[in-house]
Amino acid sequence: MVPGQKQQSGHSSEGDFIAESVIIASGSQFRKLGVPGEDKFVGKGISYCATCDGPLFKGKTVAVIGGGDSAVTEALYLSKFASLSKGHPPSQPASSQQDIRGKSYGRTKIEFIWDNAVTEIEGDGVVKQLRLKNTRNDKISVLELGGVFVAIGSKAQ
Ligand SMILES: Cc1cc2nc3c(=O)[nH]c(=O)nc-3n(C[C@H](O)[C@H](O)[C@H](O)COP(=O)(O)OP(=O)(O)OC[C@H]3O[C@@H](n4cnc5c(N)ncnc54)[C@H](O)[C@@H]3O)c2cc1C
Repeated sequence: MVPGQKQQSGHSSEGDFIAESVIIASGSQFRKLGVPGEDKFVGKGISYCATCDGPLFKGKTVAVIGGGDSAVTEALYLSKFASLSKGHPPSQPASSQQDIRGKSYGRTKIEFIWDNAVTEIEGDGVVKQLRLKNTRNDKISVLELGGVFVAIGSKAQ
């Protein structure tokens, strides 16, 4: 123990423990978009994990939804399998994000769609298209694709 450092105590079926810090590793859940069609197509074209499901989308055009490092990392990984990855990162990346964004900008298989939000995921048994709303002018557009990867973070369980 470091003198003066606060001690944490915990109780368990194995007895009581005292430590300087506690690491909670009780898992996490992927955040959902919460748009119509999302629950319906999970496992039918919607995934939350590129390393888990990426190879299943070989040769398909997929969208990566998200504006952070994880979305760009997913898109970079998917560009190995998918024919085209689409995503929409924010226009002002933090400096720690510059390197990873820089890598993705040069990839011809990754196309960025800016200032759009997904309003609905549509399909016919499997995912077929995204309905997008432009956040600047409210214009609705449709993006046809073969898969959707949602990468908008996770929350601790
Ligand atoms: C269907 C599916 C397929 C996946 N496929 C892949 C894949 O192919 N490749 C890949 O890299 N990743 C894959 N993943 C993701 C991978 O499973 C997770 O990234 C990984 O398991 C996370 O590990 P973790 O230890 O953080 O959490 P978890 O594996 O969720 O472990 C959390 C543990 O904490 C325990 N726990 C919860 N609450 C408490 C509590 N109060 N007290 C004590 N213990 C508690 C739980 O019982 C559990 O054992 C997949 C996930 C899913 C759901």
